[in-house]
Amino acid sequence: MQTGNLVAESSLEVNFHPEWSDPQLVTAVREYRNIWTAHGSSIVEVLERRTKLRFVETTINALVCEYPSRARPLILRASYPKNVKCSTLVHELGHRILWGNGYKTTPGEKGSFVNAHKLLFLFLFDAYVELFGEKMAQQAVEFESSLGPGYKGCWQWALDLNQAERAIRFADIKRHKEAWTSHLEILDASRVYDGHSL
Ligand SMILES: [Zn+2]
Repeated sequence: MQTGNLVAESSLEVNFHPEWSDPQLVTAVREYRNIWTAHGSSIVEVLERRTKLRFVETTINALVCEYPSRARPLILRASYPKNVKCSTLVHELGHRILWGNGYKTTPGEKGSFVNAHKLLFLFLFDAYVELFGEKMAQQAVEFESSLGPGYKGCWQWALDLNQAERAIRFADIKRHKEAWTSHLEILDASRVYDGHSL
């Protein structure tokens, strides 16, 4: 929505809930809430500015439990250290802003993991740097790369491009929204990974 020359900021509410009344989950929920209170508006602003998209959703409910994090439904692992909680929240909300704007993949379908993460990683590293600094951004990439070859391959693909190249590629994909996955061609065919869920 545009008001004069001012572009109104989106407001996104994220509610964090423990899966059950376990004290460790309750503590983890408090930590996620504190992160959101401290960084939520910056996270939304940075993701929207870097993607030039808006969050379509106004409220998202997050389930905090001891399960792999994922975007839909929003599940956040309870036991992650604080820095990983921060980056995971940004990672999953990055998926949500893409999904909400029609950049969808079908989980389980061939290539869906790679396509979703390549698209996300075209702006996620730069968002991490802006929000948390270069060192923490690098640590987030290292952590995510350790989760499996799918993540590692997508990060290598994105970081083989420089920041400007990532931005150009992302803008190119936005111009070809109806067939966006075909604009994620592999730069090096030896780096094709797949087989993970979102
Ligand atoms: Zn992901």
